[in-house]
Amino acid sequence: MTKALRIGTGYDVHAFAPHRDLILAGVTIPYEHGLDGHSDADVVAHAVTDALLGAARIEGALDIGQLFPDTDAAFKGADSIELLREAATRVRAGGYRIVDADCVVIAQEPKLSPYRAEMRLNLARAMDIDVSMMGLKATTTEKLGFAGRKEGIAAQAVVLLERE
Ligand code: MG
Repeated sequence: MTKALRIGTGYDVHAFAPHRDLILAGVTIPYEHGLDGHSDADVVAHAVTDALLGAARIEGALDIGQLFPDTDAAFKGADSIELLREAATRVRAGGYRIVDADCVVIAQEPKLSPYRAEMRLNLARAMDIDVSMMGLKATTTEKLGFAGRKEGIAAQAVVLLERE
């Protein structure tokens, strides 16, 4: 019998803003700007969360905005790694096993390689998967587009689930 596999993709963008910490995959990264947003604006955690929810397709939790509305004061300044943890718990309760995940961060600056191991670990722990199942890489856009102009950061993720 064929195993029931589900795949989900997630994409998010946040603009740089002054007087904010830059938090990516739960790591506070030293940089001249942070990202603007209702929560902690962790664009990496948001993309992974949306990929996870996109694969599970649970009514009422079809995407990050539906599960954690930014109109809800409860999520102001929220730790997005904790939101990912909640989403993963929800997905697991919905009868899915998280099989694999990968993410690419699109940023001209800052250089993320020194933080890669910690970022992967944070994402993997939030989803309660082995770190070997969480891919993470970064790319610039060769100075093209909003990311290239250092106006913000984008992240794209993919998650594979198996129906238990
Ligand atoms: Mg977001």
